[in-house]
Amino acid sequence: MSDCLFCKIAAGEIPAAIVHQDEAVVAFKDINAQAPLHVLIIPRRHIATLNDLSPDDDGLVGSMLRTAAALAQQHGYHERGYRTVFNTNREAGQTVFHIHLHLLAGRWLTWPPG
Ligand code: 5GP
Ligand code: ZN
Repeated sequence: MSDCLFCKIAAGEIPAAIVHQDEAVVAFKDINAQAPLHVLIIPRRHIATLNDLSPDDDGLVGSMLRTAAALAQQHGYHERGYRTVFNTNREAGQTVFHIHLHLLAGRWLTWPPG
């Protein structure tokens, strides 16, 4: 998608503080961090929302989640705790329509979420 912000970050066309990348996913710091650790994990391939996933994407989504767990461990939050969130569409607060897994850690995270 030529006009997608996160496709451009994945392609290196827009700078981001990248903390991990491999052939399938890219992880970078959120520009408006909501916790001491706030990373977004995205697939390189454009997928607009979770509603657009197919069974072929099961491995990709698994990689996104395992990347989040590995990053939480690298930053020392795997025992204390961390939160992983996908926002989907308007009422859930999705603003960038290229799926991204939020990884949040480093402070007490309340429940229910806002
Ligand atoms: P959403 O609200 O769609 O679940 O999350 C989008 C996230 O992308 C927000 O937390 C927002 O701060 C982050 N974001 C928006 N634009 C940029 C950007 O240009 N660079 C980075 N690193 N994060 C961004
Ligand atoms: Zn995209």
